[in-house]
Amino acid sequence: MKSIYDLTLDNMEKEFLELGEKKFRTSQVFEWLYRKHVTSFDDMTNLSQGLRELLKQTYTLSPLEISQKQRSQDGTVKYLFKVEDGYIETVLMTHPYGKSLCVTSQLGCNMGCQFCASGLLKKKRNLTTAEIVNQVMTVGNDLGETITHVVVMGIGEPFDNYDHLMDFIRIINHPKGLAIGARHITVSTCGLTKRIADYANEGIQINLAISLHAPNDEIRDQLMPINKVHPMDELRAAIQSYIEKTNRRVTIEYILLRGINDELIHARQLAHYLRGLNVYVNLIPYNNVDEHGYQQSLRTSVDAFKDELIRLKINVTERKEHGRDIDGACGQLRMKKEG
Ligand code: SAH
Repeated sequence: MKSIYDLTLDNMEKEFLELGEKKFRTSQVFEWLYRKHVTSFDDMTNLSQGLRELLKQTYTLSPLEISQKQRSQDGTVKYLFKVEDGYIETVLMTHPYGKSLCVTSQLGCNMGCQFCASGLLKKKRNLTTAEIVNQVMTVGNDLGETITHVVVMGIGEPFDNYDHLMDFIRIINHPKGLAIGARHITVSTCGLTKRIADYANEGIQINLAISLHAPNDEIRDQLMPINKVHPMDELRAAIQSYIEKTNRRVTIEYILLRGINDELIHARQLAHYLRGLNVYVNLIPYNNVDEHGYQQSLRTSVDAFKDELIRLKINVTERKEHGRDIDGACGQLRMKKEG
């Protein structure tokens, strides 16, 4: 049976009309689900008994099953949810500006980035819209917290699950849904250029982050196989066109790997590549993954890299590490279960 969390308001309207129900009922159901957070159709007390029965026969409304929950010293909470054919990881981070949830978009990942733990488990399938929505619902309900920001940076390549991703965004962004502002939602991609173009045409002000991680094709080819399909020139053109269409500043994610991409020459090449684009660089400390052998850059290299970008007038920030004591890196907790 299909989950009610699969449905955007528009799709729910269509399905309700087919079930012979009035359109306005969808607003009521949405309100029960996303404003009042009920966990059973019986709690939707302003619906007729008949409609509640019909909904029960047509849709499920169950939360995700929590298999494991780890709380870090810094307040980060990492969830491992059990689904029939695997595990989903979700991480809640506390920031001065609110609570941010990092959600997963696929079971496993096929992008094969060399430094990443997620790819050690090949993609089994895309998550359904409901499974992505339910990460937000289940964590919010479990902690009794309002989630103010969502980043799609968990396991998987969100643009490889585009339709479910977009439905997820429509649901959490909708004023009658969770009403999480588009500017509080970020999708991170390894660079599927055609999807970047589609995303630019959605007409919604969501943030885009690009996992670049390299200053030239030679290094990026080694780190990220996707670069052989969509090399950096093509990626740059896609980013430029995205910025022109949306007027949004794009985040460039750059993991500093010791001796690989963290030298001054790399900072200069990166600055050259980004010149003229409305972007900022987010330097990410590498979370060591035992199986891969890459290492976090030394503090002195990070500082020098950052200073060089500043000198070259590239906007740069450094990401704070979260949940280091609880298998913070993508895919690490899940891997311990399955691997
Ligand atoms: N596929 C998407 C989203 C998932 S990865 C993407 O590539 O953007 C989310 C981010 O975490 C990416 O920037 C990824 O490169 C980064 N990441 C992966 N493994 C990491 C690790 N061990 N330490 C730090 N960041 C990592």
